[in-house]
Amino acid sequence: MAQLGEVFVCKLCGNEVTVTKAGGNPSIHCCGQEMTKKSK
Ligand SMILES: [Zn+2]
Repeated sequence: MAQLGEVFVCKLCGNEVTVTKAGGNPSIHCCGQEMTKKSK
């Protein structure tokens, strides 16, 4: 489950998404693949 404040990055296009609301979809997809959680 996504946690508030986590940042996910797409390795293909570099798009970054910050989770603004915890819960919901456990994974975020971009460019047809799952986005990777960005380490701080
Ligand atoms: Zn992408």
